[in-house]
Amino acid sequence: MEVTADVVVIGFGAAGACAAVEAAATGASVVVLDRFHGGGATALSGGVVYAGGGTRQQVEAGVADTPEAMHAYLGHEVRDAVSDATLRRFCQDSAKMLAWLEDQGVPFDARVCPFKTSYPTDDYYLYHSGSETAWPDPVPRGHRTRAKGTSGDVFFARLAEATRRAGVRVMTQTRAVELITADRVTGVRCRTLTGAPKALHRTLSRAAAKPWLYLPPLGRALHRVAAAVERRFGRSLTVHARRGVVIAAGGFIANREMVRRHAPAHRGGLPLGTPGDDGSGIRLGTAAGGTTDRLDKISVWRFVTPPSALQRGILVDLDGEPFGDATRYGAAIGDEIVRRDGKAWLLIDDDTLTVAKAQVGTQTAAFQRFQARYLLSRGLVTAPTLEAVAAKAGIRAPRVEPFGRPPYSLINISVRFDSFWHGFGYPCPMLTLGGLVVDEETGAVQGVQGLYAAGRSAVGVCSESYVSGLALADCVFSGRRAGHHVAKEARC
Ligand SMILES: Cc1cc2nc3c(=O)[nH]c(=O)nc-3n(C[C@H](O)[C@H](O)[C@H](O)COP(=O)(O)OP(=O)(O)OC[C@H]3O[C@@H](n4cnc5c(N)ncnc54)[C@H](O)[C@@H]3O)c2cc1C
Repeated sequence: MEVTADVVVIGFGAAGACAAVEAAATGASVVVLDRFHGGGATALSGGVVYAGGGTRQQVEAGVADTPEAMHAYLGHEVRDAVSDATLRRFCQDSAKMLAWLEDQGVPFDARVCPFKTSYPTDDYYLYHSGSETAWPDPVPRGHRTRAKGTSGDVFFARLAEATRRAGVRVMTQTRAVELITADRVTGVRCRTLTGAPKALHRTLSRAAAKPWLYLPPLGRALHRVAAAVERRFGRSLTVHARRGVVIAAGGFIANREMVRRHAPAHRGGLPLGTPGDDGSGIRLGTAAGGTTDRLDKISVWRFVTPPSALQRGILVDLDGEPFGDATRYGAAIGDEIVRRDGKAWLLIDDDTLTVAKAQVGTQTAAFQRFQARYLLSRGLVTAPTLEAVAAKAGIRAPRVEPFGRPPYSLINISVRFDSFWHGFGYPCPMLTLGGLVVDEETGAVQGVQGLYAAGRSAVGVCSESYVSGLALADCVFSGRRAGHHVAKEARC
């Protein structure tokens, strides 16, 4: 079987959808391929988009923000992931990017969350989604898609509708296995499912998506059967690209071998993604001559809020040494913990514990409640003195000035799990950040003509360090950039 289009996009998540819409807007014919049914990690996500500089929602909420203020904060957060010029452009265009998403049908809202949290409850949609409250000028820039529960499904559904409205042909259950290259990339060789096994594969891959995150052994078992169906019933398909190919096939957190090779300290976490995050997109790019960067950067999430009272706690290591700042974003805390061999505790006094327990009912979304309750019960030890609580936790006495009111508690927030309950009650989500090196003006994979990359298959704004919303914001930014420029390539 053969298909031809101007532009071929591999992967139908946020980056792929944005690339396709933008390419189609130039009049190009576009085909999007997805190994499963589309959505990827995007549809499972919280649907939070990091945006600022005066978005419509910020203005409506009375929040003062400028592209310069956003750039000052993000520059400190993302460091040298991209050039300063690219970061400035990202911030300068941020409010327009959010308006573009609204034009595609993605709903946002101006209700500001009044407490520090890793994800707001259904009452709030604009919040401090990074470490802004530890910054001199704390501006909320986390724009959560307006929808109940985790909002990523609505975020993706609206982008998917926009993609189809734009006249893009979406071919699901079609896996890219090889790029066709001569002096440039001219197409993709695929394996596609046809006929009866499609329904079985769709059912299995849909059923595997959530357990893959929340009950990994079940998710992996269901995915193994789906993969066997692909192997048994996949047919060859060649998709020719007259102008070029965009790789937007996600990251590699589902590929244990790649994680072991590039980030050996990051074992045992919860893979924050889908079975599609097997690194196949990145490997297609390197096989064609592309290079990679920041594959060792993995975002490790150790949120201590909600409840917000826990940000008053002091982070301590195995030697009782205080470190870091509990008001910072969960991935910044996670990075510090990984550097301490994965061992860390949060020291709190009795007042903090009492307030935190009272906040659980009002400050947590359903998926956060179990974890908050775990941390405040099974996850902690309590004793009347600092020495006694340290002895119970199995660490040296915390080297801190006397503070608060006894009894004291130490909450175990280590990333290495010494018991089933710890891994289950306080899982440690991990997300890969690095990918193919691209030209920051165009999104073209460096050194490979006719090939572009976006989202978690590429190096982008969030590739050094992540705050909530920055991955999706980067997918929109880099996806649109790649789609726009690939459609302008000369036809071959
Ligand atoms: C539970 C969870 C919550 C999150 N919350 C947020 C949040 O609120 N805000 C935020 O910014 N980030 C969040 N993230 C991270 C963010 O969702 C991802 O980084 C982002 O969605 C990646 O988008 P993408 O387009 O690069 O890849 P994806 O959305 O994963 O899409 C890639 C697609 O490519 C397909 N594919 C893979 N390989 C192939 C192949 N060989 N051939 C064809 N198709 C292929 C896959 O099936 C998939 O559909 C969250 C992630 C998770 C899992």
